[in-house]
Amino acid sequence: MTELQKKILDLKQEKDAIILAHNYQRPEIQDIADFIGDSIELCRKAMSTKAKIIVFCGVDFMAQSAVILNPDKKVLIPSKGALCPMAQMLPADYFKLWQERYPGVPTVLYVNTLGEAKALCDVCCTSANAVKVVEKIPSERVLFGPDSHLAAYVAKRTGKEIIPVPEGGYCPVHVLFEKEDLLKLKQKYPQALLMVHPECPAEVIEVADFTGSTSQMCRFAKETEAKQLIVGTEIGLIYRLRKENPDKEFIPANPEAICTAMKTITLEKVYLALKEERYEVTLSDEIISKAQQSLEKMVEIVS
Ligand code: SF4
Repeated sequence: MTELQKKILDLKQEKDAIILAHNYQRPEIQDIADFIGDSIELCRKAMSTKAKIIVFCGVDFMAQSAVILNPDKKVLIPSKGALCPMAQMLPADYFKLWQERYPGVPTVLYVNTLGEAKALCDVCCTSANAVKVVEKIPSERVLFGPDSHLAAYVAKRTGKEIIPVPEGGYCPVHVLFEKEDLLKLKQKYPQALLMVHPECPAEVIEVADFTGSTSQMCRFAKETEAKQLIVGTEIGLIYRLRKENPDKEFIPANPEAICTAMKTITLEKVYLALKEERYEVTLSDEIISKAQQSLEKMVEIVS
């Protein structure tokens, strides 16, 4: 453990704080986190903690969700640059226009959206439960955003008409995977299974052995008998996979699949976040209350 990591842990205790880190965070941050997981797992953890301060090592929409679900706690994000480009692709005003264009069509938003947009939708979903949420909605037409690849994945599995909003929304990391590269890797490692995230393009998902969220990939990697796995998501997950499965080999499907927004968070910034209690994430009471309903509706639908 480095001196800086020790200082962070001391300060964390002194301030009665908890550090939550997304699966895509840098290894040195994962190592000092109290909990590592996907966006919803982190929010659930935030709900169950008694700590006064939550240092959220993830991107903007995730920290906002932590605030929405824990309005009485102080949530800090260590970097102002941790802005998810996909979440920015669906500003609330633009989403409202689409809702007006399709009156009466239910709206489902992936949790990778900002609080203002979440507050406008009927129900939220995660990459792990998107298919289930859309299946349970009593309508054959659904407005879905902001990821058009996840929308296509959901359309294929539910047989419903999914209208993507915005058209062509995408995660800049998951579109970096290409079918031809993956087929070459599968040839090179014939025993390996290929796992990909549903934010990947359809032709990539077609050649995968398993498609799921990061938490579903972690479970699959533990449970499968395969000893080699090709990982088609952001590179940060591989650190956790290797730690949890030392007897297995994890091969990055694309070593350049790096989320720069996630990587703006460094140990120095975590230290300063704790020391100066910065940068506090806030939302208006109205947004919190409406977005809470969209998230609660998701929980109600899938449980
Ligand atoms: S991996 Fe993609 S969706 Fe996730 S935070 Fe980064 S840019 Fe956003």
